[in-house]
Amino acid sequence: MLRIAIQSKGRLNEESLSLLQSIGIEVDAPKRKLLSKSQTFPIEALYLRDDDIPHVVESGTATLGIVGLNEVEERGAEVSVIARLGFGACRLSLAVPKGEDYDGIEWFSGRRIATSYPNILRKYLIERGIDAKVEVITGSVEIAPAVGIADAIFDIVSSGSTLIANGLREVETVFESEAVLITNKSLTAEDQAVIDDLLFRIDSETVSRGKKYMLMNIPRASLDEAIKILPAMRSPTVMPLASPDWCSLHSVIDAADLWTKVRQLKAIGAEGILVMDVDKIIL
Ligand code: ATP
Ligand code: MG
Repeated sequence: MLRIAIQSKGRLNEESLSLLQSIGIEVDAPKRKLLSKSQTFPIEALYLRDDDIPHVVESGTATLGIVGLNEVEERGAEVSVIARLGFGACRLSLAVPKGEDYDGIEWFSGRRIATSYPNILRKYLIERGIDAKVEVITGSVEIAPAVGIADAIFDIVSSGSTLIANGLREVETVFESEAVLITNKSLTAEDQAVIDDLLFRIDSETVSRGKKYMLMNIPRASLDEAIKILPAMRSPTVMPLASPDWCSLHSVIDAADLWTKVRQLKAIGAEGILVMDVDKIIL
């Protein structure tokens, strides 16, 4: 039975559980207990604060964990990052009060920067030869300049609206993060086999995210052109229709391209276009 550490509440909790659920691994939500065995896969979930996940995996208390790459980096944990999970995207950035005349990284020399990520920040400053004072605070970093604790901040940004609301301007992006799957560095062959199965399932989930299945009727005369518009995983499926001048064309596309493709296909005579959600793609 492998143990996987998951954030007990917070921004990563829900998506971590729904990722597991989407690959056939059901575990009870943390409201009921801190440790929950799956009935459908040889895994149990251990619910923790995200700060503790890298260390718990490094020490082997859990074999696996789902956590932000920012936490892994900040804690300097000796773990393996085995998959990027495509949610929890954010960045760690430097921001200054919006009225400041910021002219480059040298601006930070001799200034005070408030952050909850001192290790990532110090490394960045040292690499650039900037001598700034790092003020460690654990929460509400964005109010530090307004209350006089610091001249600037180094904090997590996703949309940037919190910075704007606090009169701050993002000036340097230092670290890009997303939720990742981590493992302990020493795995038994048995653990590895279960993890390989898990990764295989996660891959199929990641590949199918944002994809649509599209089928339509197309005049045979337009088929070559339609195939150019619809590159498929290998090549699109073409099926005959009762009428010899028409055929049915099926393909998988990125949802983001849907309306562009629809317009191009309509222009060459496509009719009866059906678009469906894709549940799984197993390559
Ligand atoms: P915990 O109680 O588990 O310690 P927390 O308050 O430290 O939780 P959350 O705010 O739940 O942490 O964020 C967890 C992770 O979500 C972050 O470390 C980061 O990787 C990711 N994340 C994505 N977007 C944001 C954002 N806008 N603000 C904060 N974290 C974000
Ligand atoms: Mg935390």
